[in-house]
Amino acid sequence: MIAELDLTTPIALGVDIRRNAELAPLTSMKVGGPADLLATVTTVGQMIGLVRWARAQDLPYYVLGGGSNILIADAGIRGLVIHNRLRQVRVDPAPCCVFPDDERPFLYAESGAPMAGAARTSIAEGLSGLEWAVSIPGTVGGAVVGNAGAHGTEIKDNLWGAMIMNAEGDVEEVDAVMLEFAYRTSALKQQLAVKAGFGPVVLSVNFRLEAGDPEKIRARADEYLQHRRRTQPVEPSVGSTFQNPEGDFAGRLIEAAGLKGARSGGVEVSGLHANFIVNPGGVGAGKAADVLELMREIQQVVFERFGVKLEPEVQLVGDW
Ligand SMILES: Cc1cc2nc3c(=O)[nH]c(=O)nc-3n(C[C@H](O)[C@H](O)[C@H](O)COP(=O)(O)OP(=O)(O)OC[C@H]3O[C@@H](n4cnc5c(N)ncnc54)[C@H](O)[C@@H]3O)c2cc1C
Repeated sequence: MIAELDLTTPIALGVDIRRNAELAPLTSMKVGGPADLLATVTTVGQMIGLVRWARAQDLPYYVLGGGSNILIADAGIRGLVIHNRLRQVRVDPAPCCVFPDDERPFLYAESGAPMAGAARTSIAEGLSGLEWAVSIPGTVGGAVVGNAGAHGTEIKDNLWGAMIMNAEGDVEEVDAVMLEFAYRTSALKQQLAVKAGFGPVVLSVNFRLEAGDPEKIRARADEYLQHRRRTQPVEPSVGSTFQNPEGDFAGRLIEAAGLKGARSGGVEVSGLHANFIVNPGGVGAGKAADVLELMREIQQVVFERFGVKLEPEVQLVGDW
C-alpha cells in the first residue's frame, strides 16, 4: 500500500518525504532500521497539513524528535515517521491586559527546537527556570511528552501550556495541568503507541519564566553542564537505560553486579556510568538487538544478585 501511495500532497506542502529511509542517524543511540516513509517538517503548517493528509490516507504516523529516549527495532518502523524540525524559539512579554500584576515573560518554543537550545535562549535573556535543561539531548516536544528533568527540576515546573493536535486531529491549546505530568510521563505519553498510530502531536509550547540575575543563572547552567561532562559518557547512548528503583540507583546496582564493561555485539555497559549502554562505533556498529540483549542480561543479573527488577526508562519502538 505504501509503495503506491501518492505523495503529491506532502510534496506540495514543501515537506521532504522519502521511502525506505534510515532512522539510525536520527537517534542518539545510532541503531535501528528504516521507516517505510520519512517526512521532515520545518513549519507548524507543514506538520498540521502532513498529519491531516496521513489521517485521510489511514496512514499511521510516528513523531520523531531527537530520538534520544527511544530504541528503534532493527526492522524499523512501519508507516510514516515524521522528523520534527519545527525550530522557532522566542521570548514574548506577558500581555499586560491578561496578566496585569504579573510581568513574568513567556518563552515560546516550537516542538522540534532542541530543548538545550531553548534553555540557552532563556539564559541569554536573563530568565531563570530552564537552567537544568542545558545538557538534555532531544527536542522540546520529546521533553514535554516525557516530562524530562534533571537536578531536581522538570518540564512541569515551568510549562504554562501547549498547542497540540489531539488524537482526533483537532488543533487545541491546553493548560499544563491538563497534561497530567508525573515522573517522566504525561497524559500525552499515555496516548502514544510504541508503533506508528494516530496519536496526539505537540506543536509548540509556552514556558513561564522568572527574571533573575544573569550571572547567577549562567553560573548555575555551567555547573550543571560541567557535572554532566564529568559523570556521563559522550559515546552514542539513550541516556539512562533503566529507571531508578525506589530508594536506590540503577547505575549503582548494575556496577555492584560487576556489569561495567559487559558487552553484547557492538554495544557495552559504559565504564563511566553503569546505567548507560553505549554504542561506541556509531551507525552500523551496534544493533538494536544487541542493546535489548544486554538490557535483558542486566535485568537478570541484577535480579539474581539483589532481587530488584529494573524497569526500562527507554521506550522500545517499531517492529520488534
Ligand atoms: C546522554 C543522554 C542524557 C539524557 N539525560 C536525561 C536527563 O537528564 N533527564 C531526562 O529526563 N532525560 C534524559 N535523557 C533522555 C532524553 O534526552 C529525554 O527523554 C528527551 O526529552 C527526549 O526527547 P526527544 O526529542 O529525543 O524524544 P524522542 O526520543 O524523539 O521521542 C520520545 C517520545 O516522545 C514522542 N514525541 C517526540 N516529540 C513529539 C511531539 N512533538 N509530539 C508528540 N510526540 C512526540 C515520540 O514519538 C516518542 O514516543 C537523556 C538522553 C541521553 C541520550
